[in-house]
Amino acid sequence: MSEQPDYRPETLAVRAGQERSPFGEHSEALYLTSSFVFENAAQAARRFSGEEEGNVYARFSNPTVTFFEERLAALEGAEDCVATASGMAAIMALCLAHLKQGDHIVASNSLFGATVQLFSNILSRTGIATTFVAQTDPAAWAAAIRPETRLFFLETPSNPLTEIADIARLADIAHAQGILLAVDNCFCTPILQKPLELGADLVIHSATKYLDGQGRVLGGAVCGPRKLTEDVFKYLRTAGPTLSAFNAWVLLKGLETLKIRLEAQAASSARLAAWLEAHPRVARVFYPGLASHPQHELACRQQRSGGAIVSFEVKGGRAEAWTVVDHCRLLSITANLGDAKTTITHPASTTHGRISPEARAAAGINEGLLRVAVGLEAVEDLQADLERGLALIGA
Ligand SMILES: *Cc1c(COP(=O)(O)O)cnc(C)c1O
Repeated sequence: MSEQPDYRPETLAVRAGQERSPFGEHSEALYLTSSFVFENAAQAARRFSGEEEGNVYARFSNPTVTFFEERLAALEGAEDCVATASGMAAIMALCLAHLKQGDHIVASNSLFGATVQLFSNILSRTGIATTFVAQTDPAAWAAAIRPETRLFFLETPSNPLTEIADIARLADIAHAQGILLAVDNCFCTPILQKPLELGADLVIHSATKYLDGQGRVLGGAVCGPRKLTEDVFKYLRTAGPTLSAFNAWVLLKGLETLKIRLEAQAASSARLAAWLEAHPRVARVFYPGLASHPQHELACRQQRSGGAIVSFEVKGGRAEAWTVVDHCRLLSITANLGDAKTTITHPASTTHGRISPEARAAAGINEGLLRVAVGLEAVEDLQADLERGLALIGA
């Protein structure tokens, strides 16, 4: 596949990164083995020294994991990909591979909650400091740069308000100072957004979400040029949070349907967002595909569609929002996203519940806000499910 780099994404998603064994299996083989056998002592020595390429031990590499890495790299347009046990393991590996005591990160202030905790409470203890700035304000990113800044880290669109960061612009600001830009591409996946093409140096994934797409396994990945992924691989090989072969195999199957799933989920999201925007009990809708989104134009330039996350504020506060949640029979009440099954969450009392009310208000997450991660059910059924609660709250 590597000699045919111009295959389209749906082809790559099904065909990239498979090496058949002598058995000629059609589906990717699942190699459940923790270690690999050598032909003789000399080969063992060559494999351990790195003089000869090949598998040694599954903490270092495993063929099924390699298939997944090659397939995802092909989709992201990356030279290389290193798979990790989870999305958080990918972010940790990226940071510990490229940063050291005294270094500084500038990060978006609307990152995934565990990423904020990782930067604020764990990396901070190793002497790596983080300054959080507004996702949408390039001047704030430039102003936060210090002589020791090594990394810009962002996630776009953000969760739950779908704020868009201008990847190309932030890449220019970072590169002018020799800073790396890493983008968490979880919400869009390479089907809707290719951060490396826009100038990012590294892409990270929580494969747990859309790449699996059916809520089965945890996984993560770091994609980019080999000169930057090499150290991530060295960190993983030593520190250990590698992807399991079984999870890699599930994720390979997930990638095969990624494009049709995401396009269908995004199309349903656009319809649901338009319906919500016209609803008398809804105060505001956050969806990059709507013309009313403050960064709709940037979203159109940077993403292939608005994605599959729709957030909206009901008229009222927590009681009204909870009424909508509690009358759902179809939508699952869970904070997970990227699943074939649509999920609904009330950020102020769940994912963002531990933040102070003042900080939450400053971040624009109010008590009436709900986030829907749209799955593969019929839009009409999703609307009917939401309508049951919406009809009960005061107009
Ligand atoms: C879920 C998520 C993560 C963390 O991934 P895990 O696989 O749960 O460790 C990171 N970033 C974003 C945007 C996520 O949604």
